[in-house]
Amino acid sequence: MTARLRLQPEAVGLGMTSQRVRDRLIERLRAGSHPGGGIRDERVLNAIRTVPRHLFMDEALATRAYEDTALPIGHGQTISQPWVVAKMTEALFADGAQPKKVLEVGTGSGYQGAILAALGLEVYTVERIGELLRTARKRFRTLGLNVRSKHDDGRIGWPECAPFDAIVVTAAAPALVEALTAQLAPGGTLVAPVGAGSGQSLLRLRKDADGAVSQDNLGAVVFVPLLSGMID
Ligand code: SAH
Repeated sequence: MTARLRLQPEAVGLGMTSQRVRDRLIERLRAGSHPGGGIRDERVLNAIRTVPRHLFMDEALATRAYEDTALPIGHGQTISQPWVVAKMTEALFADGAQPKKVLEVGTGSGYQGAILAALGLEVYTVERIGELLRTARKRFRTLGLNVRSKHDDGRIGWPECAPFDAIVVTAAAPALVEALTAQLAPGGTLVAPVGAGSGQSLLRLRKDADGAVSQDNLGAVVFVPLLSGMID
């Protein structure tokens, strides 16, 4: 699968964060020193290798961009840890699934959305904080990524564009959100952190061809909360 990115040197910022530093992150993700295990899907690892994570944060933090850690992006929010992004993305492709259209709830920095777009998915992303969304949109434009986005409370999903083959929720709610599960296509996969505070689990919900759902737990995670309403 080819990454759909415009890779001009100035956009990628080669030099500031060397390919060697990025390759080390890929090796760490693959090796699985994380308690949740290693990342096996080469397409996902390749997308992480290709998308310049340092462009999804303030310049002051860019030297830390290829550490396997969440980092602040303002408004009390974070860009997710690379392992978590990889794990959620990999879960969408498990068991031979070939999703085409994906909804992300919680655009944040735009990084997870960019990874999904680099994998060739048609991406729809929703963010409740206007300023974060405007910055993410600029990044999508700079990288030549075609991502559809809207400023809204993502707990209602994107009904006009449903159903989705995959749904990724990147903020934690006390329980799976019914409106989102309803917008998942038969054969689709939804991944979402569920639980409060430090007691969150990454849940994967699958809908079979007849619409019956099954769930499994991909491990412990820490996400910011899924909040109601929108702010500018
Ligand atoms: N996927 C992001 C992770 C950002 S953190 C990334 O790769 O950077 C989670 C994001 O979810 C925050 O930006 C937060 O504002 C947003 N969020 C929280 N509740 C939301 C809601 N109800 N609707 C849309 N976005 C929400």
